[in-house]
Amino acid sequence: MINPTNKEFADAVFHTLPTGAHIYGTAFKEAPDQAGNGVWFGGAIKDRSLVRRSNFTNGECNTFYVVSSFYPDAEGRVYRRKAQFAAAHVITLDDIGDGMSAKIPWDKVALPGSFVIETSPDNCQVGYILDKPETDADLFNRVVDALIEQGLASPTDPGMKGVTRYVRFPVGTNNKTKYDPPHQHVCREWNLERRYSLQNIIDAYGLTLAPPTPERMFDRVAVHHTDDPYLKCLSDLGLVLSAKPRSGGQFEMVDILCPFHEDHTDRIEVGTVYVIGGGFKCMHGHCIDRTFRDVKERLHLKYGVDTAAIDAETAAAHEQVMTKGTLALVEYLNRKG
Ligand SMILES: [Zn+2]
Repeated sequence: MINPTNKEFADAVFHTLPTGAHIYGTAFKEAPDQAGNGVWFGGAIKDRSLVRRSNFTNGECNTFYVVSSFYPDAEGRVYRRKAQFAAAHVITLDDIGDGMSAKIPWDKVALPGSFVIETSPDNCQVGYILDKPETDADLFNRVVDALIEQGLASPTDPGMKGVTRYVRFPVGTNNKTKYDPPHQHVCREWNLERRYSLQNIIDAYGLTLAPPTPERMFDRVAVHHTDDPYLKCLSDLGLVLSAKPRSGGQFEMVDILCPFHEDHTDRIEVGTVYVIGGGFKCMHGHCIDRTFRDVKERLHLKYGVDTAAIDAETAAAHEQVMTKGTLALVEYLNRKG
């Protein structure tokens, strides 16, 4: 068996790319469980980094691509975020096999993969290349959700979810610290000609899809409240849903689209507020313990926001307002509860 190069692999998976869209990925040498979150930032993958010697080709790095392609924003920057989604190109099943990290037995796999990559010892990922890139993100998500329901992915693995998910390339090394020595990825099967429609996958696994996610209850709005730099930032990103802040007593808040909404298991997009001054509350399960610190990290890693610069321009006095706002919010929520 000859391992395809990552270039050959990318050409096969992304055989049809929407005009102007980019493939996206990240490659890094650090152990994923020890590296800072910055390694996940990634970027559009340039053809040359798949052809010349680079972190994507040297075989020594953790190498990932995203299952979808993305359009550049108005400034020409490509980010791994739903707002820039172009199309989904592949569906993967994870953790198949008998290895120590495997969770799903081989007999559950009802459809032969376009490729099978051993991403850790005896633990494989089976991939289905889509014959036609899927531009309906919600439909793609509902198929993935249904596979999770069927037990083909661990429900606790948020990485399986969504159009922004990273998966490993065939050439690379998994050097999570639990693997000693580091595990060189192995392409176990490779059948370029096997492409599938979403319907093929739905039929093979007998999937019942959830109904389409309802349209947003609010329209996105621009807020002209520029004395709060993070509110301006959320507004610029199209994440603000209410034009005017409403009062929560001691503080003011606006409804926002949760920056983590892709993790919401119900995919409902209301129930999240930004508190003027730098507070955050989202009522969805995965977000319940998240604070504004997590939001800032998300804005940086996923939306490319230079949060360090914003924080630098924010005066110390502002910090006090933030703390006060957050405390008041917690009090308000406790009263409500
Ligand atoms: Zn949330």
